[in-house]
Amino acid sequence: MEMLTIGAFAKACRLSPKALRLYDELELLRPARVDPETGYRYYAPEQLEQARLVAWLRRLGMPLARIRQVVALEPAAAAREIRAFWARVEAETATRRELAAFLVDHLSRPIPSEDTTMLELRYSALSDTGLVRPSNQDTAYAGTRVLAVADGFGSGGAPASTAAVEALKFLDREPLPAGSVLNLLEDAVQGATQAVRDVAGPTDEIGTTLTAMVWTGSRLALVHIGDSRAYLLRDGALFQITHDHTVVQSMIDEGRLTPEEATAHPQRALLLKALTGGGSAPAPTPDLRLHDALAGDRYLLCSDGLYGVVSEETLREILTANPTPNEAAAALVAAANDSGGPDNVSCVVADVVGVQSRMLNS
Ligand code: MG
Repeated sequence: MEMLTIGAFAKACRLSPKALRLYDELELLRPARVDPETGYRYYAPEQLEQARLVAWLRRLGMPLARIRQVVALEPAAAAREIRAFWARVEAETATRRELAAFLVDHLSRPIPSEDTTMLELRYSALSDTGLVRPSNQDTAYAGTRVLAVADGFGSGGAPASTAAVEALKFLDREPLPAGSVLNLLEDAVQGATQAVRDVAGPTDEIGTTLTAMVWTGSRLALVHIGDSRAYLLRDGALFQITHDHTVVQSMIDEGRLTPEEATAHPQRALLLKALTGGGSAPAPTPDLRLHDALAGDRYLLCSDGLYGVVSEETLREILTANPTPNEAAAALVAAANDSGGPDNVSCVVADVVGVQSRMLNS
């Protein structure tokens, strides 16, 4: 077999000798033979294919460590890995796209004009231990401006979820600061993050999910991290408006798992992101979104203890059939417990209602 010198091989695969030496050092592409005397590298012609694959994967933006795994695989397995890598890139891009949309939306909206019809929230919050767990580590809260569900985990789970929600309650007590919704959300997120760190200590074994909405008078600003969820019931249809930060959801996004398989997956509760104690890593950022409120909208915030055992269709039926937030929240918790109540179950139901303005100054 005719060996190629590094120069000839570089020319044939259109990579520089410098790149080939780097690939060797990184164990992406080892030469077929290295002369023990001179240290010269020699390549076999059949390595051309692999060299080109490495170059293309680099062009794709794949990290070197992952390229090393992919080029060691059979073609079919390598194809699966590339597909999964790209799905992850698209998911991350989608998150950034949402953040960009949020900012564009926020910056391009006129300040709402005074209207004779104002909107208000009618709300109810309910949290229940369920039928199996020894204690309730969930926290649910609803006030005039703040709606929140948090699902704590680890030995300090209950204090973590309580701390996250407590940190938002100032928004209910004090007049809303003038100025930006962005400031307000930033304060809320920072406050909740720090409060959880304070109670959880240095460990990231203790933490909580947080799905919260802050009422601005015409819009709802959503803050979300973990696997609690927010849904919107509008015109009789139910929309999930949060994306679970779970390992299983990312596997669904990458096409490695179907949603049906996910419901029975043993690690379906494993979180990708949550508010935790102060590990070494920087605190992960929650998803942020703004929702225009329409009179007649009904929001549901809930922990996985509800949607884990009650189907989306049943959620929709219960939310449609029960006229008041109190009745709806009670019926939802009852439905989870009727299904065995395997986990703590929490829900907040909030209706957007139009009220006549008491300020008749126009
Ligand atoms: Mg739970």
